[in-house]
Amino acid sequence: MISSLDHLGVAVASLEEALPLYEKILGLELLGIEEVPEQQVRVAVLGLGTTRLELLEPTAEDSPVAKFLEKRGQGLHHLALRVEGDLQKTLGALADQGVRLIDRTPRSGAHGSAIAFLHPASTGSVLVELVAKPEKG
Ligand code: ZN
Repeated sequence: MISSLDHLGVAVASLEEALPLYEKILGLELLGIEEVPEQQVRVAVLGLGTTRLELLEPTAEDSPVAKFLEKRGQGLHHLALRVEGDLQKTLGALADQGVRLIDRTPRSGAHGSAIAFLHPASTGSVLVELVAKPEKG
């Protein structure tokens, strides 16, 4: 069902302030910066071997990432696990085992992927995102 770590999400107050650490000091490659209006964030994607690091900067005061920063400060925001196969079925199987879901049905993520979040109340306070890539071909 779950195959690998797709990416890690880190909440930052400012991409401009956070990026020099990751790019210049840690030497990671910046793959791109994109705005995701539905989630009111600007995302900087950094390559990290077979996975990626995503820096999340809020673009609105009442966005989920802004609320996270207010409550908990900057830091690890979520981990995203790659799901092979049908994400809807995976969500159903998790719900059957008592896992609380934020998204009962998948929504669309970057590059044609489908994503869904699990509720931290069910996962030891860790916000977990599930990512299913589009079928090839
Ligand atoms: Zn993510």
